[in-house]
Amino acid sequence: MVLDDLGSSLRGTLDKLQGKTTLSEDDVEEIVKEIQRSLLSADVDVSLVMDLSDSIRERALDEEPPAGTTARDHVLKIVYEEMVELVGDSTDLPLEEQTIVLAGLQGSGKTTTAAKMAWWFSKKGLRPAVIQTDTFRPGAYEQAREMCERAEVDFYGDPDNDDPVDIARTGLEATADADVHIVDTAGRHALEDVLIDELEQIESVVDPDRNLLVLDAAIGQGAKDQAERFHDAVGIDGVVITKLDGTAKGGGALAAVDQTGSSIAFLGTGEEVKDIERFEPSGFISRLLG
Ligand code: GDP
Repeated sequence: MVLDDLGSSLRGTLDKLQGKTTLSEDDVEEIVKEIQRSLLSADVDVSLVMDLSDSIRERALDEEPPAGTTARDHVLKIVYEEMVELVGDSTDLPLEEQTIVLAGLQGSGKTTTAAKMAWWFSKKGLRPAVIQTDTFRPGAYEQAREMCERAEVDFYGDPDNDDPVDIARTGLEATADADVHIVDTAGRHALEDVLIDELEQIESVVDPDRNLLVLDAAIGQGAKDQAERFHDAVGIDGVVITKLDGTAKGGGALAAVDQTGSSIAFLGTGEEVKDIERFEPSGFISRLLG
């Protein structure tokens, strides 16, 4: 990590250490406070921020910097390593035949993400298909169909069928030529039992290789509950954070990652099919601290 990746106030604090070979408790506290400020304003859960602070304090004061390393470089390395620990690695996504179910509340960005992920897999040389099982939200079928057309990927949906489980089953058969199946599911405004029941039924028919939870970057305290509920129902293997092109930094989603013991797979950065990035720790860390 280079200093430029950090927010200006944290960079300023670290710069004050220039020339020093040892760190005082006050030095470390000032750095920890800066990091806390950034992470809390990026919606990172308080208990995660406190754990990170403890680890940084402990290591910065206990670990001897290797010979020739300045105090500043030493603490920068510790901060970076602990931030990597906080945000985690990218969800493992082998480029092979697989079925992925997308879950999440209405408006989180599932349908958009389904088409974007299909586009991403197609650019990797695979043949993806999106199966739209959202019979609840008016317009979901048309939106998915249009986006898949723009992404130039296979699509299955049935606006005349109101049984999502049947659509999922038929959709898998109809798109048997594809090698990556991305199943979009219906959301609800809140964590209603009917949403979870429907998801469980779809999951049992589809038998996916992974379930990804789609979360809006603006999610705050709600992330933990949502993650717990979806994880209990189907098991969450990874998280997608959408709308990172807005002002929200997406730190709230880390509580979902922590709750499910999973990791982040993709970031959504706009409304178009190509506005998707594979998660990668350093860019996300800069975003959180910047
Ligand atoms: P769903 O109900 O979970 O399927 O959500 P949608 O995919 O329909 O997304 C809800 C709204 O968020 C739509 O207006 C999308 O265009 C928008 N959206 C989704 N992902 C992103 C993103 O990464 N950036 C922005 N700016 N808008 C997004």
